[in-house]
Amino acid sequence: MGAGGRGKSMQWEETIVTEEEIRKEKERARRLRKTHWWQRKIERGVCYYCRTHVGRDGLTMDHIVPLSRGGKSRKGNIVACCKECNNRKQSLLPVEWEEYLDRLAREDRAKEDTS
Ligand SMILES: [Zn+2]
Repeated sequence: MGAGGRGKSMQWEETIVTEEEIRKEKERARRLRKTHWWQRKIERGVCYYCRTHVGRDGLTMDHIVPLSRGGKSRKGNIVACCKECNNRKQSLLPVEWEEYLDRLAREDRAKEDTS
């Protein structure tokens, strides 16, 4: 397969990811977990997706685009989220997950309107 020419846009179409690549990205994620960047991210203890305050121990590292779909362990692709969202993300299809996020965003806006 050709190297290079990979755009910056996120690609959701079929991506072939080797186990070796996934292993490398997981390793990278483990290292990121020790950085100040990550510590700062979990300090507030708020889930990136549902904005629930769960405390820093309740947060897990999540790849917005999963490694299995070609996502990378880069800062732009890593967020701190609660275990509930993490489980949900794993059990839902990508489209269902998108719908869930849409709903959260709508609820968020509704809250802002009333308060
Ligand atoms: Zn959450």
